[in-house]
Amino acid sequence: MKSILYFRIFSLIFLITATTSTAQELTAHPNIPRIDVHSHIGQDEQGIANYLLVRERLKELHNVDLAMWINLGNGKTPFPDQDLVLKAGQGRILSCISDYSSHDGFDIDPGELKSWMQKGYVGYKIWAGPPHRRLKEGEEGYPYIDHPALDPTFAAMEKIGMVAASIHIADPNGPWGKRTKWLPDPVEYWKEILAFRHVLERHPDLTFIVAHCMWAICQDAQIDYLRNVLGTFPNVHVDLAATFQYFDLVTRENLRSFMIEYADRILFGADIGRWSDPAQNENYAKRYFRCFQILETDQTINGSFFGDAPIEGLALPEDVLEKIYFKNAMRLYPAVAEQMKSITR
Ligand SMILES: [Zn+2]
Repeated sequence: MKSILYFRIFSLIFLITATTSTAQELTAHPNIPRIDVHSHIGQDEQGIANYLLVRERLKELHNVDLAMWINLGNGKTPFPDQDLVLKAGQGRILSCISDYSSHDGFDIDPGELKSWMQKGYVGYKIWAGPPHRRLKEGEEGYPYIDHPALDPTFAAMEKIGMVAASIHIADPNGPWGKRTKWLPDPVEYWKEILAFRHVLERHPDLTFIVAHCMWAICQDAQIDYLRNVLGTFPNVHVDLAATFQYFDLVTRENLRSFMIEYADRILFGADIGRWSDPAQNENYAKRYFRCFQILETDQTINGSFFGDAPIEGLALPEDVLEKIYFKNAMRLYPAVAEQMKSITR
C-alpha cells in the first residue's frame, strides 16, 4: 500500500517536472524576429489563419517571434492573390510569382516580369530540379537550367532587379551508403549543379537565393563546393529550407564554421506547406522550434522540421542568428524590410 502511495507521489512529481520543463523551453533570443523565406501557403485562407496561429503558439510557448513569411506559391496557384494573402495574413505574408517547371519553358513572358513586380510580387520562384521529375520518358524539353531558351528570363530579371526567390536546382545527394536515397543518379546531380553555375556566370547582377543550400549540404565536400560558389559569386545566397534533417550527414564543426563564415549569405526557411486542420498547428509550432533550437543551442535536438533524426545544435553566435533570421531577408527583399517596419510600428 505504502509503495503504491510512493509510486503515485513520484509519478505526480515527475509529471509536474515534465510539464514545467516543457513550459521553460524558451528561446534565449526573444528579441530576434524570424522571417521564413520559403513557405508554400498559396492563397488558402484557412491555411493562412493556421500560419498566424502557429506564430501565436511559438510566442506563447517559446517566446519566439516568427514575424513574417515569403510565400512561394504551391504550383496550384502560381500567382497567389497578393492583396488577399496580405490581408488574410495581417501583413505578415508577402508573395512571389512562381513556375514549378522550367523544363517546358517559363510560363511568364520575360517582358511581363516588370508588371508583376509593380503589382508587389517580391520575387520569382523557379523550380529547376532534376529533369526526370518533370519530363516524361522521351520528352525533350529543357532538362538543364542553362538552356539558351531559358536565358531571356534571367536576363530580364537581372535587368529589372527581380529576385530569383528560392530557386530549386537539384535534389539531396547523400554520402556513400545514402548516395541514391534521395535521387537516382548522384553523377547526374553534378550536371544540374554545373548547369546552374553557367547561369551564375552569365548573370552576375541577378540576386539569387538558392533553395535548400543548393542541395550541396549533404556531404562535407559539398559544403566546400558551396563555399566556392558563394566565394565566386557575390550575388548568390542560400536558404536553409528542409535542410535541417540532413545536418547529421556532415561534420557539425564544418557546418557551423560554414554558417559563421557565410552568415551574410544564408536565410532561414522551413519549406512549410499548408494544412487545413487547426489541430496540426501545435505540431507545426514544435517543428519550427526544433529548427530554432538546432541553430541556437548546443543541445542534441530530437527531430527538425521534417523527420525525427537527432541533430546536434550549432550554437551559432547572436550576430550570425540575426543575419540568418531576418537581416539578410530584409536586405535582399526591400519589400520585406518595408513590411517589417510597418508591422512592428
Ligand atoms: Zn519548397
